[in-house]
Amino acid sequence: MSETGLETQVSDLTFASKAGALNVNISFVKDVSEIQLAKNDSMLMIGKSKDLKLVQHSHLSSVLTKLQIPANWYNESINYLCPQKKTDEDTPKPANGNTVSWLNKLVINTISGKFSRNNTPSRAHLISKIVKSNCFSENQVILIACERRNAVASACAVARSFPLYTSKTNDSKKQRNVAVSFLFTDNLTSGSINPTDDEVKCFNAVAESVRLTAKIVDTPCAEMTTNNFLDEIKRVAKDLGLEPMVIEGEELNNRGFGGLYNVGKAALHPPKLVVLSNLKPQAKRTIAWVGKGIVYDTGGLCIKSRAGMCGMKQDCGGAAGVLGAFYTAVKLGFEDNLHAVFCLAENAVGPNAYRPDDIIKLYSGKTVEITNTDAEGRVVLGDGVAYARKDLKADIIVDMATLTGAQGAATGKYHAAVLTNSEKWESACVDASKLCADLCYPLVFSPELHFSEFNSEVADMKNSVSNPSNAASACAGLFIHSHIGPKYDGIWIHLDIASPVSDGDRATGFGVALLNSLFGDSSLNSAFKLLGPTTTLPLKNEETESDD
Ligand SMILES: [Zn+2]
Repeated sequence: MSETGLETQVSDLTFASKAGALNVNISFVKDVSEIQLAKNDSMLMIGKSKDLKLVQHSHLSSVLTKLQIPANWYNESINYLCPQKKTDEDTPKPANGNTVSWLNKLVINTISGKFSRNNTPSRAHLISKIVKSNCFSENQVILIACERRNAVASACAVARSFPLYTSKTNDSKKQRNVAVSFLFTDNLTSGSINPTDDEVKCFNAVAESVRLTAKIVDTPCAEMTTNNFLDEIKRVAKDLGLEPMVIEGEELNNRGFGGLYNVGKAALHPPKLVVLSNLKPQAKRTIAWVGKGIVYDTGGLCIKSRAGMCGMKQDCGGAAGVLGAFYTAVKLGFEDNLHAVFCLAENAVGPNAYRPDDIIKLYSGKTVEITNTDAEGRVVLGDGVAYARKDLKADIIVDMATLTGAQGAATGKYHAAVLTNSEKWESACVDASKLCADLCYPLVFSPELHFSEFNSEVADMKNSVSNPSNAASACAGLFIHSHIGPKYDGIWIHLDIASPVSDGDRATGFGVALLNSLFGDSSLNSAFKLLGPTTTLPLKNEETESDD
């Protein structure tokens, strides 16, 4: 299978920093018939019944011959799994009735075609489950039959099934190869049933980014300090031919970044504001993606419980998602100005830790009375979004963060919560999320009703709400928004990914596909253009504010 030569196109980003990484190489190819197969290799076919039944033996004859799969078995299996008559689809199948297998060399698995209006038509979450439980051979082929617009979501679903980070001593160091391709059922008659070169480039980039993002989130803080995170950013920057801007440690304090400085100052490794910029002379808009990168969150002096602290290595998921998304966007070509802003800090406990009652001044110039050191994400992001507005002059500021436990209660473990000052962008987020399968759903945006939760007697605001039952996730977002400033007439979008950042104990790489799909109209790549907004979205928010 190594004969495809595609392995060499995939850079070593995802493997660079971790000697113990699971050694699974994923490469997307145009056509399964390109793949050199040995007789011990195996293939997994996935698709909805309506798509799989369109895949004829003739579409796959070369690969089925190599695997020595009898044609009549293939045809009978497809007929069994994908009944031709509509009425047969509702007939219950026996246990495991959605899977057939030929000596484990070919496994065909149908996924349900049903999806409700807040789910993704791609059913990507099912694809991940099937891939995780069916791919064991050294050389594995995965073939997905789907509509063209579901391919990016499906590619990400495959990528997140093969995590990179491990410290298990018995994980095989032997390299495994996974080759993935698609048959597009909406093009079966027109001849373009395989992905184009442009699409293959997209799938490889986005898969690499999803795995990079997940690796950073899965890596424990002892190995993913703020310094190590900066190294990851530098590796991405080098690959893209960019130079990161770094402000760290005491310099943050000297330059007015009181939020990031105070949250991170008790840790051994200093806090940092890091910025990557892709500048285009012909740009029509300037976009900033700001990520929360708390590499570990003990809660600070308001320390978390034993159970509540486990998993807090994942608190850098926003910044990791921004890094992966930026890599994909720039690698594939992005025609507008794009900045990635990383707010990196470890919320540690120590003699120098910031305390409840401390009053700190953020980069916005506003003062904050600390009432909960565990509400640190909004404090570091306050500095990040203020920098995006003041220094980067961004028209559109998106912050992404594992911000609140309340997000899970509000929108659940699959959907991120989106809070924005623009209804048009809110719709665009929800639409893009369904196409790319990084789902999201809106929270209420009413600063004039909710911001009083942060009222303070002695500073401009507190950092935690007085009533946690009053739209807590939305309020946390509004805290960040308040540091962009009331005069900002641009677009602000806040994505709280606290729950969808992981599935059980594994990171999902959430955010890579969502940011690239939402800004698909700036992409030079056809796969993301297909998922991007279909109308030109505004650069000014629609808030009606009288000057009082
Ligand atoms: Zn916290």
